[in-house]
Amino acid sequence: MSFKALVVRKDGDTISQAVETLDDSQLPPGDVTVEIAYSTVNYKDGLCLTGQGGLVRNYPHVPGIDFAGRVSASDNPRFRPGDEVVLTGWRVGEARWGGYATRTRIDGDLLVALPRGLSPREAMAVGTAGLTAMLAIQALEDHGLKPDQGEVLVTGASGGVGSVAVALLKAMGYTVAAVTGRPENEDYLRRLGADVLIDRAEIAETVKRPLESERWAGCVDAVGGAMLARVLGQMKYGASVAAVGLAGGASLPATVVPFLLRGVNLLGIDSVMKPIPAREKAWGRIAEAMPRDLLASMISEIGLEQAVQTGKDILKGGVKGRAVVDVN
Ligand code: NDP
Repeated sequence: MSFKALVVRKDGDTISQAVETLDDSQLPPGDVTVEIAYSTVNYKDGLCLTGQGGLVRNYPHVPGIDFAGRVSASDNPRFRPGDEVVLTGWRVGEARWGGYATRTRIDGDLLVALPRGLSPREAMAVGTAGLTAMLAIQALEDHGLKPDQGEVLVTGASGGVGSVAVALLKAMGYTVAAVTGRPENEDYLRRLGADVLIDRAEIAETVKRPLESERWAGCVDAVGGAMLARVLGQMKYGASVAAVGLAGGASLPATVVPFLLRGVNLLGIDSVMKPIPAREKAWGRIAEAMPRDLLASMISEIGLEQAVQTGKDILKGGVKGRAVVDVN
């Protein structure tokens, strides 16, 4: 039996990518075989597709950090042939072959059953980015965030994490302030649920004063860098920031003053190694809360052949919402 995959090869310093037909004997190890329906393009996929960031060590490589599909064979007691499943994280698509293929094999203990009420395509419209957005919101709630406390800020709002965070927060009753560097996405962000739009330039300047007026009741931050540092000084007393990403940089040129004088919390969010029960809880809440029409409005659907260009675009901050890959 053969299957199709987007294979990245490295020859010296040259990275190349091509859709190839592979043999089942080349499938990665695992006790569950999955016929993949959809994958997505996340920021990290952009790095893996182009050989950047040192994430991929072994070539040839099949990227794709998430996928949804149907089990065709299983030696794992959690799954039977015909079951629909979702995978995100666990360094799949980085340290081992990922979702840009029509078939894969994987340790079944890393899979989550497709949440009731979501199609495989919808699950991938959510994908790693959306799961992470929900994990961030849950972390804020675990630290006391409630809808009546005021505006919740989302940075990198037109990106994958940001778009899902805006839509979920709004659907869960929050007032949402969305930071974007792309004013042309204003209508899109307002449709998703942004009540207030903040120009990136307004909030991206380096910290001048360690404390500014208290404004945000919570923050889902996909940007990091100077923007995160600035936001820390604008948080309300006792409020929390969920640090998700580094689209704007990995540094944190901040002071500790917001922690000491305002009791601000900086919460780290990792979706990659998150244990299965926490994933199942987050997926369940996503299936409950996410308005399907808004989810549909975030999707740009592409084929395996277009994933490379989309990966390059996402690294430049040029993708809006979620790029869903129909691998077949
Ligand atoms: P996207 O590229 O889809 O979104 C990032 C957004 O950030 C862009 O759309 C843009 O939004 C904004 N942005 C881009 N560049 C800059 C910049 N230089 N300064 C300020 N804002 C910028 O990526 P994802 O949503 O997929 O991922 C976002 C981040 O989260 C990435 O760093 C990713 O690695 C990380 N991540 C972390 C996870 C975890 O487990 N912790 C899981 C998933 C993602 P706009 O144009 O609206 O300003």
